[in-house]
Amino acid sequence: MKKIFAIIGLATVFVACGPSSKTSNDLATQNPIKTTLDLTKVVDDKVPVTIDPGRFTQETVTYRLPKVVQGTYAVSDFGHFVDDFKAFDYEGNELAAVKDDTNTWTIANATKLDRIAYFVNDTYDVEGEGKSPFSPSGTNIEPDNYVLNLHGFIGYFDSLKANQYSLDVTAPVDFVRSSAIQNTGEKLSEDGKYRTTSYFAPRYFDITDNPMMYGNLDVEEFMVGDIKIVLSVFSPNKTYTAAGLKETMFNMMKAQKKYLGDINSTPRYDIYLYLSKGEEDSPAGFGALEHHTSTVVVLPESMQAEALEQTMIDVVSHEFFHIVTPLSVHSEDVHYFDYNAPTFSKHLWMYEGVTEYFAQHFQVYEGLRTEEEFYETILGKISTSLGLDDTMSFTTMSENILEEPYASNYYNVYQKGALIGMCIDILMREASNGNRSMLSLMKELSLKYGKNKPFTDDTIIEEISAMTYPSVAEFFETHVIGTTPIDYSKFFDKVGLQEAEAKVKSNFILQGNTPIVSGDPEKGLFFTELVEGNSFWAGLGVKANDVIKQVNGTDVSLQNANSVFQKVYSWELGKDIEVKLDRDGEEIIVKAKTTQPYIKGKKLVENSNATKEQINLRKAWLKG
Ligand SMILES: [Zn+2]
Repeated sequence: MKKIFAIIGLATVFVACGPSSKTSNDLATQNPIKTTLDLTKVVDDKVPVTIDPGRFTQETVTYRLPKVVQGTYAVSDFGHFVDDFKAFDYEGNELAAVKDDTNTWTIANATKLDRIAYFVNDTYDVEGEGKSPFSPSGTNIEPDNYVLNLHGFIGYFDSLKANQYSLDVTAPVDFVRSSAIQNTGEKLSEDGKYRTTSYFAPRYFDITDNPMMYGNLDVEEFMVGDIKIVLSVFSPNKTYTAAGLKETMFNMMKAQKKYLGDINSTPRYDIYLYLSKGEEDSPAGFGALEHHTSTVVVLPESMQAEALEQTMIDVVSHEFFHIVTPLSVHSEDVHYFDYNAPTFSKHLWMYEGVTEYFAQHFQVYEGLRTEEEFYETILGKISTSLGLDDTMSFTTMSENILEEPYASNYYNVYQKGALIGMCIDILMREASNGNRSMLSLMKELSLKYGKNKPFTDDTIIEEISAMTYPSVAEFFETHVIGTTPIDYSKFFDKVGLQEAEAKVKSNFILQGNTPIVSGDPEKGLFFTELVEGNSFWAGLGVKANDVIKQVNGTDVSLQNANSVFQKVYSWELGKDIEVKLDRDGEEIIVKAKTTQPYIKGKKLVENSNATKEQINLRKAWLKG
């Protein structure tokens, strides 16, 4: 971070005296690309953007918006949201620009190119229509809120990816502005209505790595040890505030810092929470995206407080643990990322799996959750992972993650990926008498490699095998590279645990991660067979194939199903509900007060015959 401050000082000088002086060097390769976003000139939900590079000496240049952004493992096509793309020469005349593909424009006569201007449409509005970036990486343009994932607005010239960028964002003076990137100056308009804030990015990567949020936000800053946490919350109905979430985030971060120990991290970390209203044009891809010093989180505003807090812990801790991998430990595919034609690393088991494992394990290890709650999470991950392809090689899936059948198994990185992390953790502790672990291995790797030194994708597993134990090497060979499903009971046995039949807590809509409601265009929405295993609905006599006509007075259709069932999912206990069903033409009204739904499932319990070794290994694993 110190390095960045030094560069910022220098760049300000560049920006201030560079391009305006005729005698100075005006070459594109040697000047920052000047960019602007004007939130005061939004037309039809579209933000005007200008891109002003220095002078080109080559005849043609290519300008692109990212097809894929880092950390998402899916196609976003940000070029799809660009309208009215225009290139201008130094006299202000339009230059021909050819759109080569969704994300790419080529400009001939580039020696005359002065600037580019276009409008950007937001991604949140069209999420329901299918093809759209995952909302934590997307953009929002609304009168009272702007989610500025800058890679959605600003692109790059192929030849100038390493160039510095300056960015001016103009917005009404009363807007709250929250940004992980340092601002380098501010200017008020003559009438005092608007303020332009200037920012600086050392290279295009920093444009993609530093999201911003503008508008009617609520911001809280607090210290956790030596890290400043900046929590920015947009809650459209003011249901939640940054102040209300502060204590949860503080306790979580404190526990994470303790868990990570001496791993070096950032002096400041920004959390942007966008709460979705759950309407048709609201974002529907919930979760978060990691950056080096920040994360953007999108969740439904309709969540109950307790559920929102636990989800924030699960999600934000996951993003923060990404500081270890891939932000520190990663391969060349990540380090030299190509936004237009990326290649993918074989090691999603590490980037997403180990990260998710840490996000769950630290909670029990640092006493934020009980062992029983942790076991429940682990069993939940096993059951969800079995609904995906359990015989797919994790390294093959990873390397081909944009293609089928791998893409539709991506969700397994958070399920089986985390379980792979757990198994290796147990094997490491078993072979080292509790002295080494998954975390200590990741620390060794981050000392060997780290933010500025990628590992070789094809050899890292061999390397880890050599650094660890035969049992770990065999596990990689069989279950990570290989296609043999993991027998989890063997790992539970090592730590003196076993599975037992039990009644487990569920919710009103899902069994594990599978919805108990389905829909088709002819029939509409209906309960599936799973409803009969749900104690709440089964207790009210609801049956498989009952068509859901109305929920609490709202007619249910395929169009509003997501928002209706999001609310059902979030029902508090003791709430009066009324559901109108159609069973083979007969109308059935279900009226009740909600009670805790249970399903038949499995529980992990301590084996009463466990040996001292098994118990000790469990204690080393969970700090019990
Ligand atoms: Zn992640």
